[in-house]
Amino acid sequence: MLPLELDNETGILAYIGHRIQSCLPKELFDQLLDIQVDSLPPGPDDVLPIFNGESGDLINAMPTPYALRLPRSKLQKLLTTGIEIHYSKRIREIESNRNSATATFEDGSKETANLIIGADGARSMVRQVLLGPQKAALQMSPLLASTCLAKLPVESARLLAEKHPRLNLTIHPARTILWICVHAKYNDTKPGDGVYTFIMSWVSDRDPKELQGAAILSDMKERATQFAHPFKQIVLSIPDDTVCSHNRLSYWPTEPWDNRNGTVTLAGDAAHPMTFHRGQGLNNAIDDAAQLVQQLQGLTDRTSHQEITAAINRYDEEVQQRGREAVESSLENSLMLHDWDRIMQAAILTRGMQKDAVH
Ligand SMILES: Cc1cc2nc3c(=O)[nH]c(=O)nc-3n(C[C@H](O)[C@H](O)[C@H](O)COP(=O)(O)OP(=O)(O)OC[C@H]3O[C@@H](n4cnc5c(N)ncnc54)[C@H](O)[C@@H]3O)c2cc1C
Repeated sequence: MLPLELDNETGILAYIGHRIQSCLPKELFDQLLDIQVDSLPPGPDDVLPIFNGESGDLINAMPTPYALRLPRSKLQKLLTTGIEIHYSKRIREIESNRNSATATFEDGSKETANLIIGADGARSMVRQVLLGPQKAALQMSPLLASTCLAKLPVESARLLAEKHPRLNLTIHPARTILWICVHAKYNDTKPGDGVYTFIMSWVSDRDPKELQGAAILSDMKERATQFAHPFKQIVLSIPDDTVCSHNRLSYWPTEPWDNRNGTVTLAGDAAHPMTFHRGQGLNNAIDDAAQLVQQLQGLTDRTSHQEITAAINRYDEEVQQRGREAVESSLENSLMLHDWDRIMQAAILTRGMQKDAVH
């Protein structure tokens, strides 16, 4: 489960050359380009345009060289090629005798292995086993977010494409962020045929349960009225029957866990659930996989439990340090994006003000 509960289809930004290459056989890595949400080839000049929500001006074009935007379902299909997966099994508990660990599933079945890797997401059950429910509990940020996937009328799709063919981040001085990006738009798509992801986030201490059902989109539209053209028009044109979700963003500052003598560890959001604005969750999960592969490939005797324990200790140490830094800097970045004065200082210092759209 994600810190913000989203349709499982939400796209993800990853970076070519980032350690994903070392985790995948060449024939699978070569297919990454084919599963992007659109037909934009990644390049050295890729940018994320950041707009002032009040004036509509471009604040900054943040370099995102060689960015890939991948749909979750297609990425998952690619990454699981040739791997035997047992779906619909929920892990209930784990026991370790310090040489091997046994997972018990909700259907009563059990699996024993010399290493169990808990990659069960932000609300990880395995993390709770290793640290106890209190220490493993997610912490709540001051940010609420609403999100949806929607088709747009042709005119809105055109307005959006004029700003950037794929994505944009719009920051309103009233501490509201609007993220819009292409969710699915392949070669033959005409304007208006594509599907877009909308995420709006803001600072609030209100209970997220106060907004449910159709009220979520009404609230997004109400917030959009303070935005400049064309962002206001684009959000207002989201079809009224679009299903939205609403949540408080959460995170967990990674802490060392007891890996039960190298028999149980964590990876991905289970190890470092973070707020999403920096787009680092998947990238860190890929780093975990690459780090684990590196440690296990370094074993001289794959049957030696002593060697495996030492490798998992090294893996844990690296993941815990990198994970904590990523969680903390993601939270810091999310908070900064909702603080207009800090944004302006950062943007003006780094790039100055620019007015035009970027492509
Ligand atoms: C809005 C948003 C935008 C994002 N954008 C980006 C981005 O641009 N770039 C980026 O790098 N990251 C991004 N992320 C973060 C990224 O989505 C996550 O970091 C990534 O999905 C983590 O993968 P994971 O496999 O660790 O966890 P998940 O994707 O959450 O998968 C966990 C899996 O474990 C299963 N599971 C849970 N509990 C159990 C159990 N008890 N037993 C068995 N299975 C279980 C779940 O069903 C799920 O299949 C974004 C996140 C959000 C919310």
